[in-house]
Amino acid sequence: MEAQTQPAFTKAQVKPMHPRDLFDRLFAAYGPQHWWPAKTRFEVCVGAILTQNTAWSNVEKAIANLRREKLLTLKALAAADKRELARCIQPAGYFNQKAGYLKNFCRHVVGEHGTLAAFFRPPLPVLRRELLAVKGIGPETADSILLYAAGKPSFVIDAYTQRIVHRLGLSEEESYAGLKQFFESRLPVDERRFNEFHALFVEHAKRVCLKAAPWCGECCLAKECRKIGV
Ligand code: SF4
Repeated sequence: MEAQTQPAFTKAQVKPMHPRDLFDRLFAAYGPQHWWPAKTRFEVCVGAILTQNTAWSNVEKAIANLRREKLLTLKALAAADKRELARCIQPAGYFNQKAGYLKNFCRHVVGEHGTLAAFFRPPLPVLRRELLAVKGIGPETADSILLYAAGKPSFVIDAYTQRIVHRLGLSEEESYAGLKQFFESRLPVDERRFNEFHALFVEHAKRVCLKAAPWCGECCLAKECRKIGV
């Protein structure tokens, strides 16, 4: 497979896709992704925190360690010794920092709400504000928890999404909030659609729209892409 280097048409001739059509095209190419890869809603939260700045394969090792040490519950993590916790999650990188983030999240949920179900009960904007107020939870982590653990329709933006959106010329927007607004204002509010869309972006970025040398010749979006061959 060789990366395509010559554009078949100029950027000016390409009309930006509507996000709805982009979803349909990606779904037709890759099918349902069955995200998030976790056994419970709590594991989704833990994974969303641990996956910051690291590959998912490293997160899986860290979660396996937590499970083996019987630390993979809200109360166990809230009460865990921080050094022991850091040792368990070492494969995920930034382990001292992330141990603190995990404890912050779990202590907040246990202390303020008692259970994850109670924590997830408020409406999306209220819960999102609360999540963002926990030290270590940024917008991408908050939206991942909202969408994949709480089942609320909050569109997730990540580096893969930004890469594909900018290459396709869908939007020039650089900020997290601006890109989130771009999608949420153009799509029906639908948790299942948002769930699938984010997973499809990740799949497309990992399989075809690679960072350094995208496989444009193999791409299902090549006809509409403004970046092709650039
Ligand atoms: S979206 Fe497709 S055509 Fe565009 S840069 Fe990525 S791989 Fe190439």
